[in-house]
Amino acid sequence: MSKLKHPADGGGNNASDPRNDEIRRRIRQWVRPEILDLTAYHVPDSSGLVKLDAMENPYTWPDAVVEEWLAVLRDASLNRYPDPSSRELRARLHQLFAVPQDKGVMLGNGSDELIQLLTMAVTQPGRTVLAPDPAFSMYRMITIFSGMEYVSVPLRQDFSLDREAMLAAMARHEPAIVFIDYPNNPSGRLFDERDLVAIIEAAPGIVVIDEAYHTFAQATFMPCLEQYEHLFILRTLSKMGLAGLRLGILAGDALWLEEINKIRLPYNINILAQLSADFALSHQAMLDEQAEAIRRDRAWLGGAMAALPGVTVFPSDANFILFRVQGGNAVEVFERIRAQGVLIKNLHRDDGLLRDCLRVTVGTGEENRAFLAALDKALQDLEMGS
Ligand SMILES: *Cc1c(COP(=O)(O)O)cnc(C)c1O
Repeated sequence: MSKLKHPADGGGNNASDPRNDEIRRRIRQWVRPEILDLTAYHVPDSSGLVKLDAMENPYTWPDAVVEEWLAVLRDASLNRYPDPSSRELRARLHQLFAVPQDKGVMLGNGSDELIQLLTMAVTQPGRTVLAPDPAFSMYRMITIFSGMEYVSVPLRQDFSLDREAMLAAMARHEPAIVFIDYPNNPSGRLFDERDLVAIIEAAPGIVVIDEAYHTFAQATFMPCLEQYEHLFILRTLSKMGLAGLRLGILAGDALWLEEINKIRLPYNINILAQLSADFALSHQAMLDEQAEAIRRDRAWLGGAMAALPGVTVFPSDANFILFRVQGGNAVEVFERIRAQGVLIKNLHRDDGLLRDCLRVTVGTGEENRAFLAALDKALQDLEMGS
């Protein structure tokens, strides 16, 4: 593999080069202070490790399906710009995701891009975006990119939504957007439907219900689009086994989407992504079987983890499991699991709900067993002080 680093990692730039002082001076003069304060989204190196850190689907496609897919790509007109509105793919998704007939569908380069477009459409100095805490980390990041303030409302100890606190914060800040991940990342929890309805009804701006884990939760607010014009449903193909493709879907009122569509770059969904997504979704049964296997293995893995001493498992409706380890050992446990060749996600913060918490993505049976053995050994070794 190439030794060349990403420029953002410091590239070939020699840190002690005196020209850097001048570069830094000009950066401080021009880059917005809130951007200077950010740390770039960190993706850890996973080479050689069992990768259970990023909620990916562990399954690939049978050879015959791969051949069929490549045949589709062979006919792609790479010399031409793609359909700017991805008409065919949008029509398929409209039907597949049961978006109400009179509502619209817009596509993004991952749901991250759609979150960005929504915030860009409404941003103004002094405006806020509100979400529960913890929640998907991109809500905060993208809110800050867009120049708005981010208001987060702590979940209760059991990761349920604090309806009164949410409503009070909404009354106080009048957020332009409320984001709710349903199920919540990182807890895996589906919030109470009545709490969400109360929030939707009280919202002065728009409400985005992010159903990234819909395949695993099988609960949805999609039919509620009929009732609430300021409600949006966000979906993604990432957790369905197509994370590498980058395709997010926003469903909502057509008048609203018309405005948001103005800031979408015309060819944001490239031809390979359009064709590949359309192809993958024509094999819905295969994707459904994979999701079913993950749901089944989630139940097995959660049960096996909960049987280990000192491990608290939080119930999950997603393709990952949040758990807490006893005794302030989370970071140590995380590192010992990685030393045994399994990468999970360390969510530990010194204060707040995620204290001593780690998150594991449900993988293949073999990967889950490797993780479980590594967790078991890490806990036992720590117990014995070795
Ligand atoms: C993983 C995840 C996404 C996915 O983002 P993409 O950009 O579509 O890959 C969105 N929302 C939540 C809550 C997630 O956990």
